[in-house]
Amino acid sequence: MIEKKNFYINGSWVAPKNPKDIQVINPATEKSCAVISLGGKEDVNDAVLAAKEAFKTWGFSSKKERVALLENFYALYKKRWNDITDAIIQEMGAPKDFALKLQTGTGASHTKSFIRYLKEFEFEKPLGEHAKNQRLIYEPKGVCALITPWNWPINQVTLKVIPALASGCTMILKPSELAPLSAMIIAELIDEAKFPKGVFNLVNGDGATTGDALTSHPDVNMISFTGSTRAGALISQNAAKDFKRVSLELGGKGANIIFKDADAEAIERGALRCFRNSGQSCNAPTRMLVEKPIYDEAVERLRKYASEFKVDDPNKEGEHIGPVISETQFNKIQGLIQKGIDEGAKLVAGGPGKPDGLNDGYYVKPTVFADVNNDMEIARTEIFGPVLSVIPFETEEEAIQIANDTDYGLTNYIQTQDNDKVQRVARKLRSGMVDVNGAGIAVDAPFGGFKHSGIGREAGKEGLLEFLEVKSVGGWN
Ligand code: NAD
Repeated sequence: MIEKKNFYINGSWVAPKNPKDIQVINPATEKSCAVISLGGKEDVNDAVLAAKEAFKTWGFSSKKERVALLENFYALYKKRWNDITDAIIQEMGAPKDFALKLQTGTGASHTKSFIRYLKEFEFEKPLGEHAKNQRLIYEPKGVCALITPWNWPINQVTLKVIPALASGCTMILKPSELAPLSAMIIAELIDEAKFPKGVFNLVNGDGATTGDALTSHPDVNMISFTGSTRAGALISQNAAKDFKRVSLELGGKGANIIFKDADAEAIERGALRCFRNSGQSCNAPTRMLVEKPIYDEAVERLRKYASEFKVDDPNKEGEHIGPVISETQFNKIQGLIQKGIDEGAKLVAGGPGKPDGLNDGYYVKPTVFADVNNDMEIARTEIFGPVLSVIPFETEEEAIQIANDTDYGLTNYIQTQDNDKVQRVARKLRSGMVDVNGAGIAVDAPFGGFKHSGIGREAGKEGLLEFLEVKSVGGWN
């Protein structure tokens, strides 16, 4: 049993003030794989105080110093790649190959990309040629509370911690209490890379106590949060009291518009993107909108693809999906699958219950519903499981209308060979990202959403700017 009860505060691993232990459950076995402790108000106070003190010098550190330390971190990250992967497999059940390449891979690619943007970034510059004595100074926002979820644990941690470090902010990271182990390795790497004490702090804990203490703390200047829309709203209320800066990456209910001239792989590719990571991605294309002339064929292909889609033990190599994160999440998904059946959607593949032979572990059958109406709950609620809803459409206008008829606005997808149509539709979709014909969104492209999908952007230059305030100085000669 791994014991990871301590928090990383002011450059040391310290015991919680009032220990409250919880088990970290491996979702593939339903058994404990580690024990951590949940932080209380006093632990949060200590961490915030450390970050506030450290900001007095780190906030004025040079770009050169920050680049050097981040390069140390990047080198160490690559050395611990397998440890990070193993932690992710245990804590959230991502299959081995997927965890190794994609889950752990994203941490490395974000770090590399932020180092590049930091090197290029001009922290001081004139307003423009027309106003050379008007100076813009970009300064770190201060003490940041970074709160992350379990579904892409290292992706989310590095999307926050690395730009916060790069910009000169100090921070307290509270990773998800369901998947804290990989984040604790990041704390070890920051320690080993020799960042000054207090710049980075980690306190484990839940949302209601630790998260609330952090987001209501008067000395926290900025909150960067990824998680549910529910928690995002609560956090915003806490932040409003003293005008903390807030960056939110929340849920999604992406539409994948498949026009009749889509390429040969578009249908299966869309299902794969929905099922990957066991459907636990905020940007998953969970509503497949299919143009009428190819609708029946698409449903048939989806039936075959989903029925043959492999679900298996995450410790095995190969292309398959693992379990979902928890019993709560498993039950929520089962309830929504039943709701789809009750509402009259046509169950084409999968359905309630666990896949054959996988009785231990929170495994869900890859499920496809056809003849879904966009008003049904399965088309409106973010299920966060491998469940695809297929909706027919007749015209381009109707497809756009259905795609935009959602509270969310994170990622939408377009499949067609007609480039004029791509550009027309992409301009009309109300989402932070549009992925065309499987091209993917670049690692350093702004990542974030419209509407209930959040506020602000992560990754690349926009992700760095989130952690900076801009100051205007007139009369700079
Ligand atoms: P969650 O909101 O329950 O938890 C996320 C994190 O917030 C955890 O660390 C949790 O402890 C903390 N938290 C919960 N309530 C809090 C509160 N009141 N105050 C402060 N902190 C609180 O979400 P989850 O179940 O862990 O993650 C799944 C959700 O996250 C999905 O809705 C998904 O779409 C969303 N998500 C969005 C993105 C994105 O980039 N847009 C990425 C990943 C996940």
